[in-house]
Amino acid sequence: MTETMPLDPHTTGDADDRRSQLHAAIEVCDPAPLLMSLVHVTGDTGLLDEFGPRLTLSEPGNHYRTGTRPTAPPGQYPADVVDDIRARAHELLTVEMEDRLGVPDAELFVRMATVATSEYVAEEFVPILREQAGFVRSERRVPITVTPPADFSVIVIGAGIVGINAAIKLRDAGFTYRVFEARHEIGGTWSRNTYPGAAVDTPSHYYSYSFELNSEWSKYYPTGAEYQKYLKGVVESYGIAENIAFRTQVLSARWIEDQHVWEVTTRSADGTREVHRANAVVTALGMLNAPNIPDVEGMDSFGGRIVHTSEWDESIDLTGKRVVVLGTGCTSVQVVANIVDQVESLDVVVRSPHWIVPEKAVVSDVPDGEKWALANIPRYHEWFRLRAYWFASDNLYVMPRIDPEWVKTHFSASPANEMVLNTARNYLESSFPDRPDLVEKLTPDFRPYGKRIVKDPGFFKALTRDHVTLHRASFQRVTPDGVFTTEGKFVPADVIILATGFALEFTTSIDIVGRNGDTLADRWKGGDDPRAYLGIQVTGFPNLFVTAGPNSAPNHGAGHNILSEEHVHYIIECLQYLLENGHDAMDVRQDALEEYNRKVDEALDKTVWVHPGENVNGYYRNSEGRAVVPCPWRLVDYWTLLREPNPDDLEFLGSATPSDR
Ligand code: NAP
Repeated sequence: MTETMPLDPHTTGDADDRRSQLHAAIEVCDPAPLLMSLVHVTGDTGLLDEFGPRLTLSEPGNHYRTGTRPTAPPGQYPADVVDDIRARAHELLTVEMEDRLGVPDAELFVRMATVATSEYVAEEFVPILREQAGFVRSERRVPITVTPPADFSVIVIGAGIVGINAAIKLRDAGFTYRVFEARHEIGGTWSRNTYPGAAVDTPSHYYSYSFELNSEWSKYYPTGAEYQKYLKGVVESYGIAENIAFRTQVLSARWIEDQHVWEVTTRSADGTREVHRANAVVTALGMLNAPNIPDVEGMDSFGGRIVHTSEWDESIDLTGKRVVVLGTGCTSVQVVANIVDQVESLDVVVRSPHWIVPEKAVVSDVPDGEKWALANIPRYHEWFRLRAYWFASDNLYVMPRIDPEWVKTHFSASPANEMVLNTARNYLESSFPDRPDLVEKLTPDFRPYGKRIVKDPGFFKALTRDHVTLHRASFQRVTPDGVFTTEGKFVPADVIILATGFALEFTTSIDIVGRNGDTLADRWKGGDDPRAYLGIQVTGFPNLFVTAGPNSAPNHGAGHNILSEEHVHYIIECLQYLLENGHDAMDVRQDALEEYNRKVDEALDKTVWVHPGENVNGYYRNSEGRAVVPCPWRLVDYWTLLREPNPDDLEFLGSATPSDR
């Protein structure tokens, strides 16, 4: 059967309509989650015994570790197995289908996940997979016997992906909370980055809240606008907007030691300053907010328009214009691919190229049958999401890690890293078969994963167009009419787009003053040397929780969404711990912070981010070459560390009962 009719995930048609839609969807949807849905709907685990032996199992990430190429893309079933699953689904699924299995126990979950991914899934992954696939909401660990008193309040700074999540989970846990957001709307990154082509570069069936699955993503990698719409929908459905103060900038936060509270000063759009008190403060500012604007001679004299991608203004019309783009990160490639058809000429100025890999799904629409299955077939969505997570997470842990023997004789870091290198090199060479000059200019001089791998949304194709010129250079000087590159070429321009990324900023834009008058900015040497315990807590700043803090980004795989969920989970557990034990506040012990950071540095020393001899700049590292962004742990290990506070590492303040506060 082929998909000949329009599929409507929310069809209210009669049973015949739904039956037709179900069978059409079965023909196009992903067979692996479909098989899992068959197990859920029939309750027949014998299906796993029947299909399991027909799959070639590999160890998780085995081909990555050994550098061997899998015969089929990871997790894909052989064609005859696919046909048989579809046939069985036509036979067994009906429009009245229901999940008879519920959430599988650990043993069954391992069996199902192993069949669903065609890789051995160890039991240690079960809790994170159950949560991250969306089977269960994050499970509370600290016993809950005390209801948060109304006068115990929490301030959240920022209403992006983390702040929204914090608001939802604080609300669910019964805490009094308030969110301050400097912009006029929620969304953070996705509100700010509206440049042409802005899109998510992590698959959104996974890069979204595990507790708010969305079956309607139009693309596997949706636009920023679609992502922003998703976030707005979440805010609306949880009714948290009324607790968010928009256009309200947090200027400072000051710990009042004798009262064990924070005093937070805000400034609203009309300039009014207010001081608020809270028992805990959660910063949810992200780390890439402050645009990195190069300091180039003559920028002020430019007669046209200069714009940084994060400050895009919809009034900018590039039609028929001569445009120069500076930079070649994820943002630049999206801009270039998106504007190439519109402009008269396009000059891309590349100081140092990134490794770029092909990814067909970056521009693919999600077929209607897939959307129908996600919305209607029991547990299909959870297993679809589990696979999206599995193949983009700890399977990739090996990628940035240095194999000391291998690097003695290879440019790449390990056999696995070599696979990415070969993929990127082949893609580069096959994209420009007649342009060795472009191949040379676009070949990076650092190992893959030194900087974020870029998935190509059409950048290389754009560079082959007659009106597009690539310069392996930087800006030397800007004049009223254009740009002189460091190669000495003059490029006439009407618009200059700075796709130059961000100045790394870990919360130090706010004046945060802790115990003994210490400021977070001083402690972190103006933000250049940030160190936190678990990436979240800093000694001397009780009940301050810095989300997306130092060394917490999952740079080998997955996305910011997992960080959002695990950080918020940990914070709620900490707050509940305080209530359960009658404390006012917790402060991390200095020795615990130092020991944690010693382990972080030791683990990072073996990666392409800081290994001696690595020739990598970029925002992962500080001025001393220390990697301050990446989390060195496997996602499963970091997630496990963040299940609940470890009292041995913490000092507790106050023992007041709630009524004494
Ligand atoms: P980026 O990765 O930091 O890249 C900035 C680019 O600008 C680099 O090519 C850099 O060259 C260049 N540059 C910076 N200063 C320069 C100067 N003074 N002169 C010449 N060139 C200069 O920034 P980004 O592309 O905006 O990406 C930022 C982060 O956002 C990344 O993590 C990225 O993956 C993420 N992102 C995510 C999405 C998403 O969908 N989730 C979309 C876009 C971006 P050098 O390498 O030589 O410094």
